[in-house]
Amino acid sequence: MACCTLVYRRVWASGHSTVFRYALIMHILLTDRITCPRCGPGFGLILLAHEVRDRRVLDGDLGCFNCQEKYPVRGGFGDFRIPPRTPLPSPSADFETESVDGEEVFRLGAFLGVTEGPGTLLIKGPAARLAAGLAELIGGVEVVGLEPNLIGERESEGVSRMVAGSRIPFFSGSFRGILLSGETGERDLDEAARVVVPLGRVVVLEAPPEAFPWVEALGLKVLLREEGVLVAQQEQTETLPLVTLRGF
Ligand SMILES: [Zn+2]
Repeated sequence: MACCTLVYRRVWASGHSTVFRYALIMHILLTDRITCPRCGPGFGLILLAHEVRDRRVLDGDLGCFNCQEKYPVRGGFGDFRIPPRTPLPSPSADFETESVDGEEVFRLGAFLGVTEGPGTLLIKGPAARLAAGLAELIGGVEVVGLEPNLIGERESEGVSRMVAGSRIPFFSGSFRGILLSGETGERDLDEAARVVVPLGRVVVLEAPPEAFPWVEALGLKVLLREEGVLVAQQEQTETLPLVTLRGF
């Protein structure tokens, strides 16, 4: 474990401290950044909220002006899959969010290199079970959990829950850090590199061997490659968010 501790400290110490101009982003403001999964990252969605509590959308629809498609938010969980949508299966029994390992949460936070808010982070895949723990650890951030098993979870401070297809339905440059878990393919890395801000990190857990050449081809700088974990940093500075965020 000693070598692992050293690794985490090294990544943590190299974290950048870019000051972001956004205030704390709650889910309802996050909806301003969601894009149409069918039409692509140039097409934002319009929120029609039916129930909002504590600035979180519990029930509503996000509609696309371009293709007229609607994406539902039910029970605070957003479904951004392109129709026809099959019913989501019941959350798997081994997806357990109650007994979160604090050391694991700290480890993920160190990989992401984000020590304080404001800002938004994205966790895709099974590691999204740690989203609430990460939001609490860092403070002042909104963590988007992109994982179907989150459908049964309660609303919690700093966590937005949703499911999508292979495309991450957000404008470019929307996240300070991205964490990919579960099966990660080349498309996932393409998308992660697109939606992370300049100098933001893309972390891949259980990274397949191909992930290393993929991130290099995308122009990301590899910071760590060890024990199945790949940490890379977006170095491009010319990629700016496509929209000016309202309310910040
Ligand atoms: Zn559309």
